[in-house]
Amino acid sequence: MNAKVTPSSRSSFPFLPCIISVALAILAGCYVNPVTGRSYTVLTSVGEEVRMGAQAFNGIKEEEKISRDPAANARVQRIAGRLAEVIGEAVPEANWEFVVFDSDTLNAFALPGGKVGVYTGLMALLDDDDELAAVIGHEIGHVVARHGGRRMSQGMIVGVIGAVGGAMVENTELFKQAYGGITNAAFVLPHSRKDEQEADLMGLHYAALAGYDPEAAVRVWQKMDAVSDHENAPPAWLSTHPTNAQRIADLSKAAPKYRETYLANKDRFADRS
Ligand SMILES: [Zn+2]
Repeated sequence: MNAKVTPSSRSSFPFLPCIISVALAILAGCYVNPVTGRSYTVLTSVGEEVRMGAQAFNGIKEEEKISRDPAANARVQRIAGRLAEVIGEAVPEANWEFVVFDSDTLNAFALPGGKVGVYTGLMALLDDDDELAAVIGHEIGHVVARHGGRRMSQGMIVGVIGAVGGAMVENTELFKQAYGGITNAAFVLPHSRKDEQEADLMGLHYAALAGYDPEAAVRVWQKMDAVSDHENAPPAWLSTHPTNAQRIADLSKAAPKYRETYLANKDRFADRS
């Protein structure tokens, strides 16, 4: 006997096809972090991340003053070069670019697809290349982990669930939501605590592989903490990277685990130190 499909039974789950396609998209978009093994949903493609990151970075480069200081630029390119070498093909389509911005701001940031900015103010606070490698390694960690794509994906999922069957929010709009509509890096929104912890561990991993002392990450956060005016406005990097004693404690505990890797690679780049 054939069951009659009545209009009412057909409309019991009108959103089912949409829900299934969202669920499939989320499953298909599962990204496994190559360093930490953590898995999460990233619905954007690396190609989209590269395109949107580059577009936003161009805006920042137009708005802010790019440093022409040869020493500062050489320092960042030297460290970034060593780190890029050990990252290898973790994100094959990434279009890496490291730019020094001339400002007293204590800040550094990463955009999806491989765009990294470091401010001279933060560089001045850091005494050696090990410390700057901790900062750049952390930012590279956000890129390889595709945390930007993850943030945009969260916006997509909320958008789709909020308007099932409706038009998808434009990707550029999602980028603005995830990054605060930046043309100025000061508006980059804070990362989640989990993403920060993950970028910290990835920073230790990459720094050690590139022959930089992982213990330097602890010193960086101690210095940032020391110059922070906790009552009023914190330095920019702190406002986008919420920190506390727990974070310094976590890094102090994790850094020794990377010491062996650091010692094994310490002399590998001796001619480029
Ligand atoms: Zn971060």
